[in-house]
Amino acid sequence: MNRNKREKEYYSIDVGDSTFTVLKRYQNLRPIGSGAQGIVCSAYDHNLERNVAIKKLSRPFQNQTHAKRAYRELVLMKCVNHKNIIGLLNVFTPQKTLEEFQDVYLVMELMDANLCQVIQMELDHERLSYLLYQMLCGIKHLHAAGIIHRDLKPSNIVVKSDCTLKILDFGLARTAATSLLMTPYVVTRYYRAPEVILGMGYQANVDIWAVGCIMAEMVRHKILFPGRDYIDQWNKVIEQLGTPSQEFLLKLNQSVRTYVENRPRYAGYSFEKLFPDVLFPADSEHNKLKASQARDLLSKMLVIDASKRISVDEALQHPYINVWYDPTEVEAPPPVITDKQLDEREHTVEEWKELIYKEVLDWEERTKNGVIRGQPGSIGAAVSGSSHQHHPSTSSSTSTNDVSMSTDPMLTDTDSSLETAGASAGGAAAADPLGCSR
Ligand code: AMP
Repeated sequence: MNRNKREKEYYSIDVGDSTFTVLKRYQNLRPIGSGAQGIVCSAYDHNLERNVAIKKLSRPFQNQTHAKRAYRELVLMKCVNHKNIIGLLNVFTPQKTLEEFQDVYLVMELMDANLCQVIQMELDHERLSYLLYQMLCGIKHLHAAGIIHRDLKPSNIVVKSDCTLKILDFGLARTAATSLLMTPYVVTRYYRAPEVILGMGYQANVDIWAVGCIMAEMVRHKILFPGRDYIDQWNKVIEQLGTPSQEFLLKLNQSVRTYVENRPRYAGYSFEKLFPDVLFPADSEHNKLKASQARDLLSKMLVIDASKRISVDEALQHPYINVWYDPTEVEAPPPVITDKQLDEREHTVEEWKELIYKEVLDWEERTKNGVIRGQPGSIGAAVSGSSHQHHPSTSSSTSTNDVSMSTDPMLTDTDSSLETAGASAGGAAAADPLGCSR
């Protein structure tokens, strides 16, 4: 395509402090959220005749942390095609050459709100269990592709008013370089599992801990384990759940074990005390049964020792969840991740720039004439929507307009465990526990 023709396809519009330069098919841009990588807008797509979300990645190759995350996200979003993982509708850059290359725009299905807003709501068992079921389906699908998230949190999970749910990101790369490069954002660690906090090895059910924390927060309307840093957070964990057994302590490395052993000992509380009846709808025999099932599920997910914690498959079979079980959702064929070195990649800024640029061109090439070639995920599948008639809907109060422009603290690819948390104790600002800035 010649340069003039290409230039005519784009226009620029100021959104907050940022300028979006987007294809003319995208009109009526409105900011709906922000994260580590930049601002997210809603827009109307004249080609698809529907609203979409557009995320601008500004100079995603600018440093290792941004580049690795942007590249990983782009590659994975292109491969993964599941109704509970956000689908990619389009990718473009307004720049015309590698030399000029600056920004990437990701166009995604537009959802109505993130889970922070849902946490404020009083949900009945039907909605709560359906949201959890979908989280577990999305997580299972990621696991099937070899992606263990490790950083699920309410701000990275989005919902629609029909109660459908999607996970927005792919969590932490296995290899994580230390980074304080995203300093304007406070990293949210409240949902990270003990094995992450304590710098232990982890397995797939590391993600179950986050689901437990999110479920608890939906029931309590308060963060379960808020902490200024990992040390403070670990205290909140053991105060409520009790000091872990000797068997668990033996799995820790020496310096962490010494630290953990020297904390005061806590007996913890029963799950009846932690999550009393008043927190659940329990106004009928049916709801009483559901409340006891919900509490039982919480008690199996919020287990410090991962070897004793419920697995994703077991959680999907739990009576509170399995009422929604649909094999087409739970057992969808796993995506094939073509880049086997995705997490190990280390590159210079220039190399990252080229890799990311190539991924954008590859998308443009494969979607010429509106058709995606040669990949399992497809625009068609992402566009076709995913609501189930028999599924519950969230309250209409979670409209697109309600998704406020929060200064979402976000994750960095990396975060030190308790081994090094002491050094940063008190250094990081705590996220606003009342707002949605999580
Ligand atoms: P992110 O940059 O992906 O962390 O997104 C930041 C925030 O933007 C999220 O917490 C959501 O509130 C909002 N957001 C991102 N993507 C979407 C989407 N596809 N639909 C609706 N809201 C979104």
